[in-house]
Amino acid sequence: MYIELPKEVKYIISRLEENGYEAYAVGGCVRDSILGKTPEDWDITTSAKPEEVKKLFQVTIDTGLQHGTVTVVIAKAGYEVTTFRLDGDYSDGRHPDRVAFTSSLTEDLKRRDFTINAMAYSEKTGLIDKFSGKEDLENGIIRAVGNAEERFSEDALRMLRAIRFAGQLNFKIEEMTLEAIKKLSANISKVSVERIAKELEKLLLSANPEYIHLVYETGIFKVIAPEVAELFEHGLIEELVQAMTRVCYSEKKGIYQIRLSIFLEKLGDIKAVKFLKKLKLDNDTINTVRKLLILLKRETETSDLEMRRTVKEAGHKIMPLFLEARRAKGFFDNSYLYKNIIERGECTEISELRVNGKDLIEAGITKGIMIGKTLDRLLELVIEHPELNTKESLLLEVKHNEE
Ligand code: ATP
Ligand code: MG
Repeated sequence: MYIELPKEVKYIISRLEENGYEAYAVGGCVRDSILGKTPEDWDITTSAKPEEVKKLFQVTIDTGLQHGTVTVVIAKAGYEVTTFRLDGDYSDGRHPDRVAFTSSLTEDLKRRDFTINAMAYSEKTGLIDKFSGKEDLENGIIRAVGNAEERFSEDALRMLRAIRFAGQLNFKIEEMTLEAIKKLSANISKVSVERIAKELEKLLLSANPEYIHLVYETGIFKVIAPEVAELFEHGLIEELVQAMTRVCYSEKKGIYQIRLSIFLEKLGDIKAVKFLKKLKLDNDTINTVRKLLILLKRETETSDLEMRRTVKEAGHKIMPLFLEARRAKGFFDNSYLYKNIIERGECTEISELRVNGKDLIEAGITKGIMIGKTLDRLLELVIEHPELNTKESLLLEVKHNEE
């Protein structure tokens, strides 16, 4: 097994080796390399202690010294170098009570979650694969390292990670591992909502978001969101889960927001927002999903006028997300109506009117509430008659109305 390591990683490993330590690329980067994917980041595991690592490299950041992690910076990129460690007991099901350094790579690999994530590689040794991770990778299997129940009891987040990796890689969760998740699903309540939300986000952004079904089947949804579990129970959500897989959008955050709104549609906007707030998602995502859920109730537009009314409600930022959500749900794709509106430069919001508040004051409208009301009325007018969006026409309209 040969893996082409980036030259910075080769440098870090050889510098550590030259100084008498062991060092390997480890975890996700080895997994992704074997899969032929370019890893997003390269983690290194070493027998050197953090202080020793710091001495060997010019620029380092103390990322998590208590966990043995130092970030080595080369050409503005960071590489996490972590000392071989054993995790102590996890009495809270979340954090190891203490971590202890070890001189054994095998011990370090043992503490990792899944066999596919527990491989190490260096040019000197080649692939080190104590738990048949490569075979599981070839067979498409997510399998806990060691005893699954023990591993999920130590850290309940691993249960969601198993499902997330299954979704990202289109893998099966091995039977004992899956059974252990089902048995211990209640433990997910020990994990912080932020960490849960992060895993759900990765799952929804994966190539196979329909694996979210497993979050229900394992009993995890029942604990983190009983209202969502109910949708599955009543068979209300299957079609929407499938619709999520059809979402096509140019940018990650948009994909996430579109998929969330499709997934949560049957909850209704109020309960959906409550759920998203419970997950502590950012305000932009919560507001966007709320708007999408309200918009998804609209009938499909069949005329330019109907489309302009929808654009007025949605705004240009949301429109592409909304049209894609509806298309993915299997409705007639009428996005050409929206494209035409954009191409013709038709006005759908107050800022696009050819008059502004100042023009109205100059035209003699008294300040204050009347200005806003007049602009609203003019917007309504040009939505029905786009050709009237000229300064002369609009001022004339205002004058007529005063008379
Ligand atoms: P990605 O970065 O694509 O999410 P990854 O495998 O790199 O995937 P990270 O969360 O970056 O995942 O963790 C790096 C490595 O650390 C993993 O490959 C795994 O070996 C180990 N690891 C991470 N989280 C856990 C955990 N909760 N329990 C045990 N090992 C873990
Ligand atoms: Mg990673």
